[in-house]
Amino acid sequence: MADAVRGPPLVTHSMSYPRAYFDHNATTPIAETVIAGMMDVLRDGFGNASSIHQEGQRARHLVEHARREVARLLHADPKEIVFTSGGTEADNTAIFGAMEASASPRRHFVTTTIEHPAVLHAADRLEQLGVEVTRVGVDASGVVDPQSIRAALRPETVLVSVMHANNETGVIQPVAEISSLCHENRVLFHTDAVQSVGKMKVDVRALDVDFLSLSGHKFFGPKGVGVLFMRKGVACNPLLHGGKHERGRRPGTENVPGIHGLGIAASFAHTALQTEPERIGKLRNELEAALMDSIPNVFINCGGSPRLANTSSVCFPGIEGEPLVIALDLRGFAVSSGAACSSGSVEPSHVLTAIGLSRQDARSCLRISLGPSNTVEQVKELVGALRDATSHLRRLAPTASSPVPV
Ligand code: PLP
Repeated sequence: MADAVRGPPLVTHSMSYPRAYFDHNATTPIAETVIAGMMDVLRDGFGNASSIHQEGQRARHLVEHARREVARLLHADPKEIVFTSGGTEADNTAIFGAMEASASPRRHFVTTTIEHPAVLHAADRLEQLGVEVTRVGVDASGVVDPQSIRAALRPETVLVSVMHANNETGVIQPVAEISSLCHENRVLFHTDAVQSVGKMKVDVRALDVDFLSLSGHKFFGPKGVGVLFMRKGVACNPLLHGGKHERGRRPGTENVPGIHGLGIAASFAHTALQTEPERIGKLRNELEAALMDSIPNVFINCGGSPRLANTSSVCFPGIEGEPLVIALDLRGFAVSSGAACSSGSVEPSHVLTAIGLSRQDARSCLRISLGPSNTVEQVKELVGALRDATSHLRRLAPTASSPVPV
């Protein structure tokens, strides 16, 4: 591949710290089986899935096979699976589609302060369009209290959207409980499960959701392809207007290679979920224990809450997250200082301020998100690199240290 196409090489700056990827909540590498399957389809599966000739039939077969794989992963019916261009489009379709399809003048939407921008900014737009929005907050645990959602419901509430697992803290929300109280009040319920699908078992029947969003690139599939689960019989207008693809729910010629890749990733996740969360959870716990042991003045955000097994949000008071990310990058480690989508902005993470961190502490956090390639040795080396980098950065700004909050 030409260098211009390949992009800049991954640089390993130190022989003692081989490069290790600890940013799986930002995105995951594509599994080799997914790459191989997509290459075959790019070459031989170019047909339009709506065409009736053999090329079209082959493309249709690939799309429907992927739909069945995703449905199996979620315990859904294949007819309830709608392919989209990713998690953002799935979230927007559920929110605008359900609000718009509601026949009554019920014009109220409820969400939380810790959602991804794909939901938060959709809520802002709804407000501009005249819909009333309630944003429910969280306490230091990072868990949304179902009773706060109940208290926010009104006779005119159409839809509630609460994420399944938070992308920064990893906190898993009591979605089944919230969904059930929404249904008692005849309110629809959507969950953004972009971070949970592939990292834990997700069963749309047990969660009793009306809508659920997922994204291929968060579980070893390709970018630019996702799914909106839409429970059978639920009314939802399409976000885009065009042809009758996806049973009229999402127009546009299907991205067959991407959908095929997502299907392979779903079947891979189905198997990996039997063992991986336990192994990764042990590794994450060892990482957190070692950080607390070897670095002074460190705390874990929402450490006592139910969390994704792979995610750790760590605060190093007095140290800016961005220079720490760069220091680790130069030593061969990829981590994040917050949600990847908001990096480049100097604003502290809205999730970390929502759980009660000061703006300064929120800027002093790292998100470390593990995946199948991470080993015990890599974790030990990451702890060593963090010990060196934090003591160096604290020496540069010795007065900036603040006490650990209770
Ligand atoms: N929702 C959550 C919780 C996410 O973490 C992300 C991506 O980071 C998205 C939605 C957006 O998904 P996509 O990148 O596929 O648009």
